[in-house]
Amino acid sequence: MVVSNTDISRNVDEIVRALGKPGEAKRKEIESEFARYIDHGVPMEEARRTIMHKFGGATLSAQKGIASLQTGDMDVNVLGKILSVNTRQVVARGENKTVYFGFLGDETGTISYSSFKDLAPLNLQKGDIVRIEHAYVNEYNGKMRLNLGDRSNIKKEEGKMEMNIPAPPAAEAKEYPLAELKGGLRNVTVTAKIESVGQRTVETKTGAKVVYFGKMADETGTIRYSSWHDFGLKQDEVVKIEGAYTREWQGMVDVNFDERCKVSKSDKKIEASTKTIPIRDIEAKGGAYDASIEGVVVDIRPGSGLISRCPQCNKTLLKGQCKEHGAVDGKPDLRIRTVIDDGTGTLNVTIGRELSEPLIGKNLEQCKTEAQKAFDPEVVVDHMRKSLMLKPMSIKGNAKKDDFGLSMIANDAKPLALDRAKLREKAENMLENMEAI
Ligand SMILES: [Zn+2]
Repeated sequence: MVVSNTDISRNVDEIVRALGKPGEAKRKEIESEFARYIDHGVPMEEARRTIMHKFGGATLSAQKGIASLQTGDMDVNVLGKILSVNTRQVVARGENKTVYFGFLGDETGTISYSSFKDLAPLNLQKGDIVRIEHAYVNEYNGKMRLNLGDRSNIKKEEGKMEMNIPAPPAAEAKEYPLAELKGGLRNVTVTAKIESVGQRTVETKTGAKVVYFGKMADETGTIRYSSWHDFGLKQDEVVKIEGAYTREWQGMVDVNFDERCKVSKSDKKIEASTKTIPIRDIEAKGGAYDASIEGVVVDIRPGSGLISRCPQCNKTLLKGQCKEHGAVDGKPDLRIRTVIDDGTGTLNVTIGRELSEPLIGKNLEQCKTEAQKAFDPEVVVDHMRKSLMLKPMSIKGNAKKDDFGLSMIANDAKPLALDRAKLREKAENMLENMEAI
């Protein structure tokens, strides 16, 4: 049997998770033990079971009531009702994966679940009764969670089955710095400065509702919020919000609160964060809202320079054609599409005209004139390259992940005067990364 190192480290990852992350030293021990078993030709499953047993993970295979599950339980079988299904995109071992998560309940209680296994073929819906086998329980954010890995089975129970789920106990209130908020949290307390307030009307199941939304900030970061009740929020006011919940979309988390929450003014002084975040962290989260990054321009990509936009829909024209509106009289525009490397990762950044002009020291009219004189629009791109390649920049915007990697449309982009030491460190990191590829 050929066992790759990835197989080993995947198994070790799962064992370590199941044992409630016992620390780096223990991990090393587990890893070498596991490798030793495999070297001796012990089948993977057997090696897992033995190690799990040796390092203290209880095993059980009888079907269990959810209330009796405990952190560290292995090989868990439960019959439960799906109370919610959500998905989230993550990068695992360099690959995009969809993680399924939500709550599961039976007549004894409820538990959150998370599945690395692809559940798409099951088309799970709220209310489905499922039979889960070979799952394991660990702790996540201080709470128990049922995990489905590659070896777990899940299937829908056919036919009607009644299952009354007791109401979950109210989540304990917890205060979070904004940077530590993740999607799916309940009973969240935050203290933050309101940076903007807008409002819009949305249609809900119970009719039209006004939602108040904007940005708020603390020392650790900035986050979007939506308030489903008029708390009279004002810009620059610091408020304490209790009983909020969070949601996540494309790696961007937002805070939501409504009339059941308590919102009070706070005397706390807040200097909003201007901290930059490593691109690696944005990558890990799958996106970021209002993120500041610092890095070096390593590429000026096709689509930079003078472009034409459709006067009706503002989309970029290709050879004078709009995808939707056909041949139109385009509006000239200027943009830079660049790749920024901060030593921890790369990000595709699109910089619009207003931010591009000061960066290249020329405005749209000047660029047009030069392109006409040279009979070649590429002179503008050459000029961009000369002005920006390998220059350190400070950039702000919303980063999100799609099929082409991480991308951001800049809300702000400035050249950065890095001190030499910092710059050298970044350059060295970058070289190391390149060698590693
Ligand atoms: Zn158009």
